[in-house]
Amino acid sequence: MKDSTGQPSNAQHRHGPDEEHHRVEKTESEWQENLTAEQYRILREAGTERAFTGKYYAHHETGVYHCAACGQALFGSNAKFESGSGWPSYWEPVSGNAVERVVDRSHGMDRTEVRCAKCGSHLGHVFEDGPQPTGLRYCINSASLDFEGSE
Ligand SMILES: [Zn+2]
Repeated sequence: MKDSTGQPSNAQHRHGPDEEHHRVEKTESEWQENLTAEQYRILREAGTERAFTGKYYAHHETGVYHCAACGQALFGSNAKFESGSGWPSYWEPVSGNAVERVVDRSHGMDRTEVRCAKCGSHLGHVFEDGPQPTGLRYCINSASLDFEGSE
C-alpha cells in the first residue's frame, strides 16, 4: 500500500449541537430511509401517535417488543397491561438499562420521556400511576415498537 500523504479531501465530521453518544449512530437521512414517515415522526422527532390508533395497544400475544429503530428488546408481554389509555402500556422494561429516562417539560407538562438506551429514539413517556409491583406505567407508541412472538 502506498502511504497517503494527501490532504483528506473532504473530512466529514458533523457534530450536531445536541449530539448524544448512543451506541447506534445514524444520520437523520439514514433514519428516514429505514423508517416509515410515521415512525420517523415519533421515534426521531418525539411525536405521539393518536390514542387507539396504534397496532399494539390492544395486542395480547406472548413475546417481546423491540425498538422499531434499532431492534433492541425493550418490553416483554408479561409486563404489558391494559391501561385504557389507547397506547401500549408496560409496568417495566425487559431490563433497567434497555431504556433511558429524560425530563420532558414540553407542551407545558412535566413528564418523563422514555428513549431507547441503544439508539436514543423516542418511545413514549413513563408515569407513576401504573400497577404493582413497580407502580409505573410506560406509555409507549406502537409505532416505536416491533413485536416478535414466542411460543
Ligand atoms: Zn433503539
